[in-house]
Amino acid sequence: MKKKCPSCAMMIEKDAQVCPICQYEFPSSGYQKNLKWIAILLAVLFLLVILL
Ligand SMILES: [Zn+2]
Repeated sequence: MKKKCPSCAMMIEKDAQVCPICQYEFPSSGYQKNLKWIAILLAVLFLLVILL
């Protein structure tokens, strides 16, 4: 199975976590991205609590 690299548009192995051509890092899943947004939201809420 192959997948297309969104950075260099080359077809690479589906299991590759990093593109061997341009070193683009594939997100393993949506989990890490969601976790990042939750962290940002918590930080904003924390700031609001301090300021109010
Ligand atoms: Zn690439």
